[in-house]
Amino acid sequence: MDITDIHDRIFVLARSAIGVDVHTYLNETRKSLYGLLIADGGASFRPMFGDPPAVLLDAANARPSDTVAGFCVDVGEALRINIRADVFLLSEAMLYETGYQLDAIIVHELAHFAIDSANDDILRSELTTEDRQTAAELYARTDRQMERVTRHNEYFCQVLIVACRRWIADRNDLNIQDALYLAMKFDVDGGFRQ
Ligand SMILES: [Zn+2]
Repeated sequence: MDITDIHDRIFVLARSAIGVDVHTYLNETRKSLYGLLIADGGASFRPMFGDPPAVLLDAANARPSDTVAGFCVDVGEALRINIRADVFLLSEAMLYETGYQLDAIIVHELAHFAIDSANDDILRSELTTEDRQTAAELYARTDRQMERVTRHNEYFCQVLIVACRRWIADRNDLNIQDALYLAMKFDVDGGFRQ
């Protein structure tokens, strides 16, 4: 996917997968959304969208990351810099993924965003008994030793399942198992086996 398309992709997927209008959210919270590309194999951050200020780039580059993607709500507090913003992070390598892989990663990060920004009411209200069972099974397969860092607790798994179901609602070429697989394949201990 072209780097210039990522911003719009996030807004479109936020509406379908987590039921959030990001424009409204940013207006109401008086925040900006910046995109940073995780470049050079995780050694540096580069601007992706939203024209990130130098203070953000400098602070981010002081602690590089080699993760696949990330969503940081209130990055000013996290990095102790004076900006009101959320940040979406994406590894450069993800731009070369094909099919639904990149969308699935964006949905995964939007599930984190929904929880961290307290925009998870809709997802929680659509949670079924069966979803709770699936989430328990998914959670059992995650790298729970790293839960403090990954924030992949059981509630995250529940929210992710509802977000994936909403995302694929109008697609008949993707089922929930495949959607979950794509959304979690980089995060499951020892690989993800369906
Ligand atoms: Zn995650």
